[in-house]
Amino acid sequence: GELRHAGSADPPSWFTRGRDRVWLPYAQMKTAPPPLPVVATNGSRIRLADGRELVDGVASWWTACHGYNHPHMRIEIARQLETMPHVMLGGLLHEPAARLAERLAALLPGDLGRVFFSDSGSVAVEVAMKMAVQYWINNGVRGRTKFVAFRGGYHGDTTATMAVCDPDEGMHRLFKGLLPEHLITDLPRDEATTAALDRLLGERADAIAGILVEPLVQGAGGMLFHDAAVLRRLRALADRHGTLLIFDEVFTGFGRTGSMFACDAAGVVPDIVTLGKALSGGTLPLAATVASERVFRAFWSDDPMQALMHGPTFMGNALACAAANASLDLFEREPRLDQVKAIETQMTAGLAPCRGLPNVVDVRVRGAIGVVELSTIDIPRLKARFVAEGVYVRPFGRIVYLTPAFTIGAEDLARLTGAIVTVLSEP
Ligand code: PLP
Repeated sequence: GELRHAGSADPPSWFTRGRDRVWLPYAQMKTAPPPLPVVATNGSRIRLADGRELVDGVASWWTACHGYNHPHMRIEIARQLETMPHVMLGGLLHEPAARLAERLAALLPGDLGRVFFSDSGSVAVEVAMKMAVQYWINNGVRGRTKFVAFRGGYHGDTTATMAVCDPDEGMHRLFKGLLPEHLITDLPRDEATTAALDRLLGERADAIAGILVEPLVQGAGGMLFHDAAVLRRLRALADRHGTLLIFDEVFTGFGRTGSMFACDAAGVVPDIVTLGKALSGGTLPLAATVASERVFRAFWSDDPMQALMHGPTFMGNALACAAANASLDLFEREPRLDQVKAIETQMTAGLAPCRGLPNVVDVRVRGAIGVVELSTIDIPRLKARFVAEGVYVRPFGRIVYLTPAFTIGAEDLARLTGAIVTVLSEP
């Protein structure tokens, strides 16, 4: 408790009154320390009600790639608010969604260019799964309803997406009984795992709708890295066994790993890609499932039952699409990918001292993702110590990670890496 209100101000009354009413994510409401009351965000800083300012190492679950409150984001969202905050896409279309879809199609590799909007990453993945299953049905093939997904993976926390997360390590193992069974296996990192996956795809060919993977970095399942060769093997295996390849770029999309999309760096074009998180620059809920022509054509027919059977109420929300267009403007106008490169270099050096620490198993950096993996972890202690050091860092599993805004200054980034070195050096 002493850290929360270390300053002079009493907690604000909205906090005292509403605090126990808001059921927080992944939090034991009885024992978790109360959340920190936030009154403002700016750049890579979070301002607390007692006046303290924390340097944000997480960018609100990796969304706020331009930092908080970027003026261009604010102006464009406000402009859209004047004319039309929302109109449904049921039989209607508006400019922000049309422009955004056109721009995403131009940015994505290959012929990925048919954009289905939704409002969260989980739903975007769920739509990709439905798209893949219906792709086969529309092609007259029955029984292909299973997905191959990978250990260490995380694709969301709806029922469909929990079922394709890592079944043992993941946060969802309690719900096993609720979930349909999929084929969760090892990434094809070497000859043995590639041969095993090849066999699985052959043996279960009639049941498999697609292969689902987070390209280059498996995020919330443990911040695990793999290289482009793994993705090239997946593409080759998917083609050999005639199944669909789905890349979940909800985390990796929009520069996080160093290229605009992870699939660019790998030179691999999936059949379906999912986007979310940084799509709207960390401002409004928006996600997308983007299909290739091959997939889209399976739905293009005179039969109304061959239409894609999905439609979230707020899909393609005009404010969120305007935000995403503003975010893409910023990728064009400001040197985001150069900033990611600089962050990668600075984090690599800044986190290097962790390597020698007794409790540290691995230190890895890719793009604007920095990870320190520990052998044992005391998460409540670490969280409190980071706040005391003036930074916001949220360890999970056995890892401490940084996914800062791409606009973070060198000094703030040094405070983040310095705090991690300091705190992890403590006995
Ligand atoms: N897919 C990946 C790769 C993610 O990292 C996440 C969220 O962490 C999701 C899907 C789920 O997105 P959301 O939390 O917006 O539903």
